[in-house]
Amino acid sequence: MRYYPVYLDLMDQRAVVLGDGPVATDKAALLREAGAVVTVIAAGDYRPGDLAGARIVVDASGDSKVNRLAWEEAEAAGILINVLDRPEQCRFIAPAIVRRDPVVIAISTSGESPFLASQLRVRIERLLGTEWGPFTALVGRIRRRLREQAVPIATQTRVYRRLLQADLRSMLRAGRTTAAYAHAATLAERSAQWRGRVAIVGAGPGDPELLTLRARELLFDADVVLHDALISPETLALSGPDTRLEAVGKRGGSADSVSQESINARLIELAADGHFVVRLKGGDPFVFGRGGEELQVLVDAGVDVIVVPGITSALAAPAALGIPATLRGTSSSVTITSGHSEDLDERLVELARVSDTLVVLMARARLAQIARVLAAAVGASTPAAVVGNATLATERHVIGTLANIAALADRQQIQAAATLIVGQVVSAAPRSEGVLEAPTARG
Ligand code: SAH
Repeated sequence: MRYYPVYLDLMDQRAVVLGDGPVATDKAALLREAGAVVTVIAAGDYRPGDLAGARIVVDASGDSKVNRLAWEEAEAAGILINVLDRPEQCRFIAPAIVRRDPVVIAISTSGESPFLASQLRVRIERLLGTEWGPFTALVGRIRRRLREQAVPIATQTRVYRRLLQADLRSMLRAGRTTAAYAHAATLAERSAQWRGRVAIVGAGPGDPELLTLRARELLFDADVVLHDALISPETLALSGPDTRLEAVGKRGGSADSVSQESINARLIELAADGHFVVRLKGGDPFVFGRGGEELQVLVDAGVDVIVVPGITSALAAPAALGIPATLRGTSSSVTITSGHSEDLDERLVELARVSDTLVVLMARARLAQIARVLAAAVGASTPAAVVGNATLATERHVIGTLANIAALADRQQIQAAATLIVGQVVSAAPRSEGVLEAPTARG
């Protein structure tokens, strides 16, 4: 680290700005805002000795003679000086700043790239909405009150966590300041009455970048995340530093799988203890995710619950291969179903007959039989694709027809979770060699 970061208290301190251009004006204004008593001296008017008594000097004169004299005077007097665009004549550098007063974030690239510093500033501004300013002021007010009441630090910390989790920021964003303050005061005073909450959240098909913004934020704020087996470690890594992860994966009846009943009971128990729980499910929670059942159970138990949709693998898996679910002139309907049970084969046939594109989830285990059943219904030459681990680094796929798709999937050792896509859209996909196409799958 080349520079040591600090925030200066310049209240009622003398500051000098050299120069008369717009930069000098801006620097003077910012210093004044921080409470400094600012003298602005035009380049031609500066004489050595003018800096006497100053704590800090910004030389925006752009005049190399002034630059040199001011630097020498400031150095001799031990005054902090920044000569614009002359790093070798700077005792301090001015960071790019993100202002969410009272939060001020300073960004420095140690002078490597002012461009990147300003890019970072904009990125952070996007990340932290303007509500973070009033939110911080609100938390500050609560903190002063808790300290007056000599509330133990551990309890205070629990309260601050709770304030972060509550809907306060969205209330402030919506301009409901009075309501936000009232709600925060209640939360701070009656921690015994905190109500738990559950968010049923879709994690998307695998790639953490395909999470929704809200999913990402809730994951970070959660006390506990109850997640399925299919959720990638990269996605779970986005949970907060104090978030507890509980795996409740149901893996086709394996020994470590957790029954739906015990998941339901666990959700209710955690919420009753006042926790903020994220129930994280692969894809979209309401597409073959049993999210609907969990929602019902939680509502019946009187738990506050919200639902955050996710990108379903039913659409992301074909998209990962460039296969559109619908395509003008080729497919105007898409059906999403499950290949999980033999009892459904008759239904599968009906669906294949009426839909242009058929997407079969949980297709891997019975792929050969499903393909046979469908081939008999809609023709063995119907184009078909199987994608496993779509959107992840481990993604594999094969493209063929109902006649050979199961053999291809075996040969390529595609494992669950895999999705089968059937219909003319499969061959309509604009495949460019080596990018989306598995060469072995052609023909
Ligand atoms: N709720 C999930 C689906 C759960 S059922 C969703 O909306 O995506 C589980 C099935 O989803 C798997 O058997 C597989 O068919 C499909 N699936 C989930 N993740 C997948 C992925 N990354 N690639 C391909 N298929 C996937």
